[in-house]
Amino acid sequence: MGVLSRHSETFRGLFNTSRPADVDAELKVDGCPVIPVQDSAHDFKHLLHVLYDGLDTYLEPGKPIEFGILAALVRLSYNYQLDRIFAITLGLMKVVFTDDFQAWRARENKTEGTTRVKIKDKNAIEAFNLLRTCGQPELLPVALYICCGLETRVLLRGVERADGSLEKLRDSDLERCLAARDVLELQNAALNRSVFDFADPARQACLAPSTCPVTLHNIGHMAGLGTKSETEARRVFHRILAETPMSVVVCSSCASFVTSGLTMFYENLWRDLPRILDLPVPTWLPAA
Ligand SMILES: [Zn+2]
Repeated sequence: MGVLSRHSETFRGLFNTSRPADVDAELKVDGCPVIPVQDSAHDFKHLLHVLYDGLDTYLEPGKPIEFGILAALVRLSYNYQLDRIFAITLGLMKVVFTDDFQAWRARENKTEGTTRVKIKDKNAIEAFNLLRTCGQPELLPVALYICCGLETRVLLRGVERADGSLEKLRDSDLERCLAARDVLELQNAALNRSVFDFADPARQACLAPSTCPVTLHNIGHMAGLGTKSETEARRVFHRILAETPMSVVVCSSCASFVTSGLTMFYENLWRDLPRILDLPVPTWLPAA
């Protein structure tokens, strides 16, 4: 039994039903029968590499796996029912496309990427389509949420896969994405405005009214509030604050108001994410 048949029921079936006698004479190379597959050369090459040399060749500690390779392995291990490879590679996908609030929040605080997967935000388009094909509905909301942050031009034109083919969202998913982006903009705008609302009864009195409003406005200006999308400005605003100990920048009352506002924003957003994206997940767990 060959390496492929040993690993996969599907390969075994393919070889058994396509005995040399049944195979068209034209489908022979150097006298060997050829079984055509639908997969790209890129994807198949990486799958063969894993089957012959082991998955560890791609999983060296401290060396992130390229998203294009990871996606190829998820796609083909799913198609060929290579259960072990599928479980491990899907586990790596879940590092980014997670259904866990804390993992999502941790990634949200950074710009892009993780230490285990080398990925760009635009790869979320391919990930979204792939995760849906593989029957992982609970991983779809975060994948489409990341798509919401992509430029419209990228969403409309699609993104090239590692094998050179073009990956786009379906029209219905594109609609979901654009509609959700409007909702997210409104929610981010409300959070951005709240930072400057010193009259909010939920806010403790500012302890440095002569400096806090000016400081917060300056940071808002640096973050691009009013000149870029509310979502992007909110990200940059809180990144700037996170990089400086906030108690140094603003008084403790304002610091705790801004921090708790962001925490509540994320918890509410997480709870509502499947609904905002119109991707219901019955097993969705609220922020914990
Ligand atoms: Zn203050």
